[in-house]
Amino acid sequence: MVKKALKKEQPESDAARKERLKKVLIQRREDIVKESKSEIRKYVSGEKKQLVETVMDDGDLSVVDLAEDINLKQLSTHRETLLKIDTALRKLSEGTYGVCDECGDEISEERLKILPFAIFCRDCQEEREMKEKMEKEEGTL
Ligand SMILES: [Zn+2]
Repeated sequence: MVKKALKKEQPESDAARKERLKKVLIQRREDIVKESKSEIRKYVSGEKKQLVETVMDDGDLSVVDLAEDINLKQLSTHRETLLKIDTALRKLSEGTYGVCDECGDEISEERLKILPFAIFCRDCQEEREMKEKMEKEEGTL
């Protein structure tokens, strides 16, 4: 098909973009689940290990909920990322992908390239991080 030969020069259609992003997000999700699994395996033993293995075969988010007990910083980071990926996938199917969840502004293409699961624009993300940091500091007072 002629269309195929011209692929490089043609702007990506919305449907193609959506499909590509979906793949990227799902791939990323699988990688993180895989990585979490191997980390959990390192720290879990005995009966719990069996439980973790069974749950993990389903590959769902509850896997990483179990990891909360283990309390590994790295795993909680994975968990947060998985939640973001799920949100991004939801937004993708709702047609709101690339729109900031907070202020409704468009998230820049460069930002999405680096963080395909970004759900906030840079400003809102920074504001949230600052708030979180402040809340944490208040909590320790
Ligand atoms: Zn925003």
